[in-house]
Amino acid sequence: MTDCIFCKIINKEIPADIVFEDENVLAFMDIKPVSKGHLLVIAKTHTADFLSAEDSVIASSMPMVKKIGQALMKTVNAQGMNITSNIGAASGQSVFHLHFHLIPRFDKDGLQSWPHQDSEPKTRTEIAERIKKELK
Ligand code: AMP
Ligand code: ZN
Repeated sequence: MTDCIFCKIINKEIPADIVFEDENVLAFMDIKPVSKGHLLVIAKTHTADFLSAEDSVIASSMPMVKKIGQALMKTVNAQGMNITSNIGAASGQSVFHLHFHLIPRFDKDGLQSWPHQDSEPKTRTEIAERIKKELK
């Protein structure tokens, strides 16, 4: 994709602090890190997001997300990590090329986690039933 910023990084048309590359994925430092060491692992195949990606792209990416995540944990001495992949503008996705955020977390780092809400048992069960149907 010619106008995709992550494809440009893959093609070395724009610079990035690359930490790992193989035939399937590229990992580089996020330019606006959420925490110290925030990495992005991207698929080399241009695909918009996790849910629309081919299974083969997911299958080749995930082991590398794990391997790079382990190296990142050690390198920055993190106590935890958030691994996320945003899907759609509503989720906060801004670059529409499949990528995983590896965000190291540290005790008392002050970052807020997801705001949880109370829910009605009836509503939960109803949504669960609809998802189960969809999965059949
Ligand atoms: P998302 O909002 O999930 O689509 O994540 C896109 C991420 O890409 C953001 O965290 C940005 O800071 C990061 N980003 C955008 N452009 C660059 C770039 N040229 N180099 C490194 N990271 C970038
Ligand atoms: Zn792309």
